[in-house]
Amino acid sequence: MFEISPAELFSLIQRRDDKTKLNFVMTFDGISVKTNSKNMSVFYHKGTICARCGIEGTKFRLERIVNTWVLNLYGVDENGNDILFNKDHIVPKFEGGSDSIDNLQPMCCPCNGEKGKDTWHNRGQSYIPKTKKSKRIINRRHRVKEIMNNK
Ligand SMILES: [Zn+2]
Repeated sequence: MFEISPAELFSLIQRRDDKTKLNFVMTFDGISVKTNSKNMSVFYHKGTICARCGIEGTKFRLERIVNTWVLNLYGVDENGNDILFNKDHIVPKFEGGSDSIDNLQPMCCPCNGEKGKDTWHNRGQSYIPKTKKSKRIINRRHRVKEIMNNK
């Protein structure tokens, strides 16, 4: 398992000419990985500390997702568990927030989930995770309600 600290990775990035797009390929352990992901831009430009709980992302781990190698950022919680990081939309997308770097910040995945719930709660709605399965269940519930209402 290959890991590199943010400081090390960012110092490699800083040696490149075009730092704004982060559009290049790096090779670790003989594996080529692109650094042009939106997540990487957020971590590079906005840091690796969760904007909600303050946990720090301390290691990028080389991981394979289907056929693509990516560098995922992890922090470690007080129980020693790895916590995956993601990008968070400061103004949520469904409220018109953009995908630009100005509207993005680093956030750990547990906080990202909690923020989603809070946002829905504040809007007076119950939180509905966006998965195909849950959508199917919700649709089924609606259909059951419709059938019952029509009786
Ligand atoms: Zn967090």
